[in-house]
Amino acid sequence: MTGEFLKETEVFLLDLDGTVYLDGTPIGKMPSTLQKLRAAGKRLVFLTNNSSRTEEEYRLKLTRMGLFGGGDLVFTSASATVRYLSERYRGARVFLVATAAVMEEFIAAGVNIVGEEPDVCVLAYDTELTFAKIKQLDYFLQRGVPFLATHPDDVCPTSYGSMPDVGSFLAMLGRSSGRTATVIGKPMPLMGEYLSKLTGAPLSKMCMVGDRMHTDIRFANACGMRSVLVLSGETTRESMKNFPDSPDLILEDLNEIDKYPLF
Ligand SMILES: [Mg+2]
Repeated sequence: MTGEFLKETEVFLLDLDGTVYLDGTPIGKMPSTLQKLRAAGKRLVFLTNNSSRTEEEYRLKLTRMGLFGGGDLVFTSASATVRYLSERYRGARVFLVATAAVMEEFIAAGVNIVGEEPDVCVLAYDTELTFAKIKQLDYFLQRGVPFLATHPDDVCPTSYGSMPDVGSFLAMLGRSSGRTATVIGKPMPLMGEYLSKLTGAPLSKMCMVGDRMHTDIRFANACGMRSVLVLSGETTRESMKNFPDSPDLILEDLNEIDKYPLF
């Protein structure tokens, strides 16, 4: 692995947990590593499937950690879902299960959020989930209303291991309603199209950096992007052999990228 492609890369898509921070702490000298990438003319997009927070909340969190810089962007699976709705369900009545903050983000983006007679249901990572919301969503699903989910992750990493994420809720709703959702976030290639439009860079000049084989690296391969696997999160050299995808480069953590020429 030579990492020669890093020179040609215009946009780095950076996964968050396990890639730039762990448990809310930047990994090593990450702020200066990201500054080096910016200084080399690379654009940075912080890309997460976690749709429990808004883009603004992530910008503030990353800024507090010294990770967010001028020209950087944040893009979440919720942002991608808003785009999907505007392309395919423009003006539709949307039943959204999400945190209050993400609900506000959808409304601000012009999505018509309703509590009854929806044209489409959307499940985001609702960390304020209640039985009343599950019951209402299940009711609409049993009546055949189209069903979208922001992302497929089964679990979300925590300091002690993991907690249930949207994929786990989808398994439950699959059992109760018999329905499966159309999933929007990584590893679905649709997210790549949106990022290419957002940045103006072709997919071939984008590189996904992440710690998960089945979302981050799968996503890069599905989109025709380059990829860097970092071993600072979920994946080990041993466990990566269990996946059909392979990254273009493997780093212990992203800080190791300064061993490679960037331009
Ligand atoms: Mg991660």
